[in-house]
Amino acid sequence: MSLANGRPYLAIPGPSVMPDRVLNAMHRAAPNIYEGPLHDLTDRVLVDLKTVAGTRGNVAIYIVNGHGAWEAANANLFSRGDVALVLSTGNFGHGWANSARRMGVTVEMLDFGKSVAADPAQVEAALRADTAGRIKAVLMTHVDTASSVKSDVAAIRAAIDAAGHPALLAVDAIASLGCDALLMDAWGVDVLVAASQKGLMTPPGLGFVWFSDRAKARCTGGDLCTPYWDWAPRAGATEFWQLFCGTAPTHHLFGLAEALTMIVHEEGLQAVWARHATLARAVWAAFDAWGAGNPEIALNVRDPAARSHAVTAARLGAPHATALRRWTESEAGVTLGIGLGMADSKDPAYHGFFRVAHMGHVNAHMTLGALAAMDAGMKALGLPHGPGALEAAAAVVAGR
Ligand SMILES: *Cc1c(COP(=O)(O)O)cnc(C)c1O
Repeated sequence: MSLANGRPYLAIPGPSVMPDRVLNAMHRAAPNIYEGPLHDLTDRVLVDLKTVAGTRGNVAIYIVNGHGAWEAANANLFSRGDVALVLSTGNFGHGWANSARRMGVTVEMLDFGKSVAADPAQVEAALRADTAGRIKAVLMTHVDTASSVKSDVAAIRAAIDAAGHPALLAVDAIASLGCDALLMDAWGVDVLVAASQKGLMTPPGLGFVWFSDRAKARCTGGDLCTPYWDWAPRAGATEFWQLFCGTAPTHHLFGLAEALTMIVHEEGLQAVWARHATLARAVWAAFDAWGAGNPEIALNVRDPAARSHAVTAARLGAPHATALRRWTESEAGVTLGIGLGMADSKDPAYHGFFRVAHMGHVNAHMTLGALAAMDAGMKALGLPHGPGALEAAAAVVAGR
């Protein structure tokens, strides 16, 4: 007998859990795109998108996923032959770098491995070594969703400034926006990239590129900037259709508007960040307790300051992570994330990695429930684990 019937919980890091309110907001007839309420709603969305990113700068919306948002940023930032310094802390830095390379950008890579944050000192040294000033921009991942490593964006900005280098700072915040504290202007970010399906609790299909006035001034006339990707008419539209370079993503806008209302105007950004921080600590506490009884069970990131508040990557020893994922999905209705990029999918070691998402529309009962399902799965599978994980997680929730 399976105990999975009931509302399923998709705890992979994106698409995240969507509020019924967001889904219901989308359940309606096609609106007039030429005038009326959709235009007012879009104006509000644009204001809220800037608030959620912590910027008074510019924002362009694209009908894309995260990969499309990377490409949008690249198309505006670079011309063919320009140089990007890309920082990798897991999987997604390489993804953005590949996108840039395929577009003709010369990529210099600083790879920090898969379990520590980007090192500002190495970034500063790389920029100091660039005496000719060839590097146009530093591309970094705020939270790498595969490794769950979080890097200190303000520290990377400080490193660029300490080197006296004019490079722009571009940040992939696809996994962190709406989960981890993120202050684009205060942290000196020039270009910020995100998508709808993670912290913003909306179906995949919208990508966002925010850009500073400095980036706007420095990125004009590039030879990669074809009409659809050009951020200037989207961010400075005088006609509604220019916001989307064509037909508006009508139903995504209804859903996103509802999600932003919940995040910005009801719960409030500070409370959203605090909720994610607490749920993350509950997950870490459970892993610490499990790991105390089995050295094969461990969080991927040792330093709590370098851990995401939206997703936790962990190891369980192969093949137990895959076995546990299968058990929680089929027996308890909780789908956990695969261990992305930690080992090749044909390598037996692959089955030792997994991830727990605590991203977006999640609350204490969902995270505690996911942890309890994992605890039950370890018992059912005969996987040795330390005691007290659920008590430890509950204590975090109780004592926040
Ligand atoms: C999810 C994610 C991406 C890729 O987004 P897609 O929508 O799958 O293209 C890129 N970067 C980060 C940090 C992500 O979390």
